[in-house]
Amino acid sequence: MKISGSWLAEVRRLFLVMFAGGLLGWTLGYPYIMVAAALFLLCCFWLRQMWKIRRWLSEPEEEPPESHGIWGVIYDRIYALQRENREARTQLQSSLDYLQDSFASMREGVVMLSESGAIEWSNASAERLLGLKYPTDRGQPLLNLVRFPEFHQYFLAGDFNEILQLVVPADQEQVLQIEVTPFGKGDKLVFVRDVTSIARLERMRRDFVGNVSHELRTPLTVIMGYIDTLLSTGVGGKAPMEKPLMHMQQQSRRMENLLKDLLWLSRIESVVAEEKLDEIDIAGLARKLQEEMQANHPERHLVLQLDSQHKVLGDYRELDSALSNLVNNAIKYSAEDSPVIISWCKDQGEYLLSVSDQGVGIDGMHIPRLTERFYRVDDSRNAKTGGTGLGLAIVKHVVAAHDAQLRISSEVGKGSTFTIAFKG
Ligand code: ADP
Repeated sequence: MKISGSWLAEVRRLFLVMFAGGLLGWTLGYPYIMVAAALFLLCCFWLRQMWKIRRWLSEPEEEPPESHGIWGVIYDRIYALQRENREARTQLQSSLDYLQDSFASMREGVVMLSESGAIEWSNASAERLLGLKYPTDRGQPLLNLVRFPEFHQYFLAGDFNEILQLVVPADQEQVLQIEVTPFGKGDKLVFVRDVTSIARLERMRRDFVGNVSHELRTPLTVIMGYIDTLLSTGVGGKAPMEKPLMHMQQQSRRMENLLKDLLWLSRIESVVAEEKLDEIDIAGLARKLQEEMQANHPERHLVLQLDSQHKVLGDYRELDSALSNLVNNAIKYSAEDSPVIISWCKDQGEYLLSVSDQGVGIDGMHIPRLTERFYRVDDSRNAKTGGTGLGLAIVKHVVAAHDAQLRISSEVGKGSTFTIAFKG
């Protein structure tokens, strides 16, 4: 029955009871009292129905009691809603079970945290990687159980844009990558990956490049020494020896620069995570570099624009090498009569160290790959400038180690600006 129909039936019942009470009262001579008594009985009936509903609602698993009229409709409606609710809950639970099953079988550690950082759920891999025991540790704050200082700092800072990589303090060999993803109303999903083997391979590659570069330097120095001696003693000055010897000297110098850059790159790569604690006077560094470069390139116009005296926490040698690579490039890739500008200023909360030239510029499509090792825009141009192809890779690593950003803007034929942006 529809609710409006049963409602009308209930109203009809009310009038019928009043009429019957009135009729009986009229024959007995107490019409008002009998109407009131009939209404009282009807109220008792309604109260009883309400009490039955209340009792049934506290036992939701039970079938609804038999009833007619509006009460029957109300029972049916509530029963249907309860069934829908139960079905939705079962469906939700099975999706949740499915999700938890897939997380549980993952090799990565997965931890679900509440808004306050307490553990809601964790999988078996989280026990292996972080030592968490589920369900024993449920409700405990994660930071009380995972005692990696780097993780504490990262978690409390609340900036999860970058993935954290750390060496486990208790086992210096193990390297973990931790990713935190906030969801819902401040809940968090923590993924933990064991990247020990990848980190070991990376270290082996770095050590290999460093060792090979180091080993090659000694024989190269001997060869260069002989070439210099042959040229200076005049033995090599006689044609046809002079030209090949000059060529050998030029190429061995290039090789020496390459080995120097490779060694330096492997050194800064291996200390990228070290905290920088020295206060570096960037304006002073730029002044010193300008003097040195001016002495080496007296024909060039090197302009300094120093609008800030701010000092940054960093490593002097690393910043010196980054800036000198940028200035060297600006000199190499611009015409002799055009200026090179080195500037240091504050802009919108950041400190910007820029090197600008009005040289050949770089096509936009090359910019994303420019800081890769040995990436060159134009090989023929590069052969002339004699670069190693490692300059910007060095700059990129120095910038990353200083928690800064490298920005490159350039236009072909107009010039380029390389900016290192330090956080304020
Ligand atoms: P290289 O030793 O070849 O200069 P870098 O890593 O320093 O190596 O630079 C990579 C490439 O980026 C260069 O080969 C050059 O093509 C381009 N490049 C770097 N700086 C500039 C600049 N200021 N103007 C134009 N091109 C540049």
